[in-house]
Amino acid sequence: MRSTPRARPRLLALACAALLLAAAACGKEGTPPPKGPDQGELPTYEVNAAADVPDSPTWRNAKERGRLVVGTKADQPYVAQQDPATGYYSGFDVEIAKMIAADLGFGVDRIEFKTITSANRETALQNGQVDYYAGTYTINDNRKKSVGFAGPYYMAGQSLLVRADEKDINGPQDLNGKKVCSVAGSTPYQRLQKDYPKVKLIGYDSYSVCVDNLISFQVDAVSTDDTILMGYAAKVPDQLKLAGQPFSQEPYGIGVPRGDRAFRLALDDAIARHEANGDWKRAYDATLGLSGVPAPAPPPIDRY
Ligand code: GLU
Repeated sequence: MRSTPRARPRLLALACAALLLAAAACGKEGTPPPKGPDQGELPTYEVNAAADVPDSPTWRNAKERGRLVVGTKADQPYVAQQDPATGYYSGFDVEIAKMIAADLGFGVDRIEFKTITSANRETALQNGQVDYYAGTYTINDNRKKSVGFAGPYYMAGQSLLVRADEKDINGPQDLNGKKVCSVAGSTPYQRLQKDYPKVKLIGYDSYSVCVDNLISFQVDAVSTDDTILMGYAAKVPDQLKLAGQPFSQEPYGIGVPRGDRAFRLALDDAIARHEANGDWKRAYDATLGLSGVPAPAPPPIDRY
């Protein structure tokens, strides 16, 4: 096939994308392998058989139903990821969800996890599709108009993921005119839109699609919480890296139905108990800690 000199960079990019696709067959795909930590290495949590939260309609419904329904993500390595072969969810946020469930009287065999994307979290909680939501969910005043938040249980920060050989992007100040991918309905997407209007912002439903687009040269960077980006980078460190320093604070909370204060406070108690007894740190070390960052101290819980 002939090509003009002008067409060559594009051909080169296509060839690279094809090579990456071929590499995917050998287990080195753009979207990291959908395998979380082995179930056996994870901590287990003692189920409180005497749990009772009589003032919480959410808890009473779950008790009657015989299981808890918990919303989370399915494509965020080390944070919240579903193994398509087994259906199991794993990651730090999944562990947080499990330790809370144990205090509410539900063992892992009585939790039904549901994948809910960033843009659909408030609606899922408002419609009663899930009892609570654990998945890189930033607490903020705007969201508090529609849902309640237990926690925070972790402090993340917005950051940038670029290709490993990228030299020009070292922070959000370098993004003018660049194509940056994030997820619609997320706080990082909203921040870029508002504070960095010269960015060519592209929104998808999930971050793994953004990462695929980064590896195949469709975008120049992916922006969201450092926790999420660290997981992708740790899976393919020869292809991806984080750039610059975090430029926001993203306190992670457990989303709950807004009116159910008793439920929210029971969740706050559960988080505090598991932070104090070492479960929080054990869970971190077995999940997010695998991406190479030692466990920070959890932020203070805000009981409102
Ligand atoms: N923590 C941010 C948010 O809640 C970004 C991560 C996500 O989309 O889940 O919007």
